This record gives sequence, structure tokens and C-alpha cells, in this order.
Amino acid sequence: MSKHIFKVAVLPGDGIGKEIMAACIEVLHRLLGNQSPLALDYVACPGGAQHYADKGVALPDDTLRQCENADAILFGAMGLPHIRYPDGTEVNPQLGLRKDFDLYAGVRPIRAIPGVPSTLADPRAAGIDFVLIREQSEGLFYGRLYPEKQPPANDEEAFDLGRISRKASERLFDFAFRLARQRHASNPAKGRVTCVDKANVLNSMAFFHKIYWQRAALNADITADHCYVDAMALNLLKHPWDYDMLPTENQFGDILSDLAAGLIGGLGMSPSGDIGDRYGLFQPSHGSAPDIAGQGKANPTAMILSAAMMLEWLGEKHALPEVTATGARLVRAVDAAFASGRLRSVETGGSDGTQRIAGAIGDALERRSAPA
Ligand code: NAD
Repeated sequence: MSKHIFKVAVLPGDGIGKEIMAACIEVLHRLLGNQSPLALDYVACPGGAQHYADKGVALPDDTLRQCENADAILFGAMGLPHIRYPDGTEVNPQLGLRKDFDLYAGVRPIRAIPGVPSTLADPRAAGIDFVLIREQSEGLFYGRLYPEKQPPANDEEAFDLGRISRKASERLFDFAFRLARQRHASNPAKGRVTCVDKANVLNSMAFFHKIYWQRAALNADITADHCYVDAMALNLLKHPWDYDMLPTENQFGDILSDLAAGLIGGLGMSPSGDIGDRYGLFQPSHGSAPDIAGQGKANPTAMILSAAMMLEWLGEKHALPEVTATGARLVRAVDAAFASGRLRSVETGGSDGTQRIAGAIGDALERRSAPA
């Protein structure tokens, strides 16, 4: 049998990034045995805040080159609160990667996994299944991404330049409508897009809102509606099961995705894909968690589900259904590992750490029930 071989640039980064990445690669080895239709060629790439402190650069040129030449990028977490640039901001090279590789859509699926306790007591929380789509090329992060455009700060005042452009908004909304259409095809109950903005107050958001409705008119087969971001923060606590696809501005998406992860068992359960038209980077929604780094407590599930997203993306991009199916098999193994309710991450009040959770997912892969 001929195998599809994909080159994957692996950037573990800082803090728990290293621990969850090692656990994820172990699980991928168990997933991709001899019989698998695909193999991954991993290229380990240094980078992160600690790398900046040690060597003066957060992402060496060779890491950038490897990312550029890879079929996909697998990323742990980067940033450490005590390591900062002279202007006081943190070293977060993932922002630069999003810009360099034009990874404009931050896709953050929020799905309740049976057996994982939700913060919500309502039994309908078992039906939480929506996707936040965070715009990542501009919004309130624009000044950070393009410091040369930022008004100068002094010791009396500081600015963050926000920007909303037609081009970036159109491609974001088109991405959301496309994904909603795909979800509807596999589950007729899905297929609704809700734009999240602050069009009642901010000029840039009124523009974002206007463009949303223009794109909605071109995607009339998909139900479209809208919600202000402050109301959405409440709605996600009161009835998150009602939502499907939530495109939003960069900073709003950053904040809402942490809130949303809290609904399904914490940041350690929340995967993400940073997707552009050419490149894809896959990483958990969380950061380097210095408070638990080095203790073996980090939940690797978000990292492992991000790897599953990577396989599904590679399969779709290259029209290889068997590769997509391998990603889906990994998702089923995660579900099987948690199904009994006995596997409990530290975040949800249990004592199962990185090794135990990754081991349980690997065991589920090898049980007869997991393969399709
Ligand atoms: P964080 O996401 O690292 O942690 C927030 C809380 O969630 C902490 O209590 C942490 O212990 C917990 N947590 C996170 N992931 C977990 C996991 N897998 N298992 C169990 N518990 C987990 O956010 P923070 O503390 O605000 O940031 C820490 C550092 O990470 C900062 O330097 C920040 O800039 C950086 N950061 C990086 C990224 C990224 O790489 N994409 C994202 C967010 C924050």
C-alpha cells in the first residue's frame, strides 16, 4: 500500500507546550501504525519566549523556513509572563506566524464530549456544539501586528490601533458560511451563522456588521443572524447549545473562546486551527500555563484534538478522504476515552494528568471499537 507522507513542522514552544506536544506525538505514533494510509514526517522547530530570552530571537529563520516548507504546522503554546519586550508587551510569536502565513481564520470548535463535566448544570449542555471563528489578521490586534502604523505612545497615553477592512471581513464571513454549509450537510440541525460584533457603538464594528449582511445575502441558503458581543457573553452562559457558527473580531474571539472553553471542561479540551488559504497551523486554544508547567498536570486533549483537525484539514485540502477519516478516528478515540466519565482532568477536579489522559486516548485507539 502506498502511503501519503506529509511534512509537519512541530513547534512545542514554552511551558506546558512541550509536555502536551510530546504526549500528542506519542498518540499520533499509535494512530499511524504500519497499516495507516498516511505517515507524518515531523520536523522539530525551536522557538518561543524562552528562546527569545536565551538567544534574542523568538522564532529563528530556520523555524520560519521549515514552517513555510511544511504541509502543516503543529504548535504547542508560546509566551511566558516574565519574558517581555522593552515596551512591556509579551513575546507571543504566534501572532507573527498568523501574520506571516496569513492565517486569517481562527477556527475554535466548542463541543461537549460525553463524560466530561460541563460548568453548566443544565442537561442541555451535553448538546453544546458550535464553532467560534476568530478573525486574526486585523481588528484590535492590528497595531500589534503592524507597529509602524500605531500612533506613538508616551508616558501619558498609549494607543492600540484597530482596523476592519472589507477584504478581511468578506473572507472571514465567506469562510464561516462555507463551514456552516459543510456542517449542515452532515447534520441538518446545523448550518446557522451568528455574527458577533459591537455595531451599536463602534464605527469599525458597524462596518463589519454591514459587510456581514452583504455576504449573508450572497449565502441565502444558510440562516444568518446577529448578536452584540456583550449579549453573546451572557447567551453563551445561558443557552450555548443554540449556536452553531460564530464569526467575530480578533479581540472578541480571543476573549469569548476562553469563556466557551470553560463550558466544555476547560482550555485543555479546546482545540483550534489557524487557517489561511494556503497554510494551516493547529494548536490548543490555551497558553503555556506556567502555573502548572513541569508538574505533569496539563490536559493534552486540546493538543490531540488539534492534531485531529490538522489531519482532517490535510485530507480535505488534498482530497484524500482516507486522511480525513484518520483524523475522525482520532476524535472518536478521544470520545471513547472520556465516555465512561472516569477519566478526569485536573481542570475538572480530577487527578488525571498528561500521561494518563494521552495513554487512555492511545488505548481507545487500539480497542476494536475505535476504528471505523
Ligand atoms: P493559559 O491558557 O496558559 O492558562 C490559563 C489557565 O488555564 C491556567 O490556570 C492554566 O493552568 C489553565 N490551563 C491552560 N491550559 C491547560 C491544560 N492544557 N490543562 C490544564 N490546565 C490548563 O493562559 P495565561 O495563564 O493567561 O497565559 C500564560 C502564558 O501563555 C502567557 O505568557 C500568555 O501570553 C501565553 N499564551 C499563549 C497562547 C498561545 O500560545 N496561543 C495563548 C494564550 C496565552
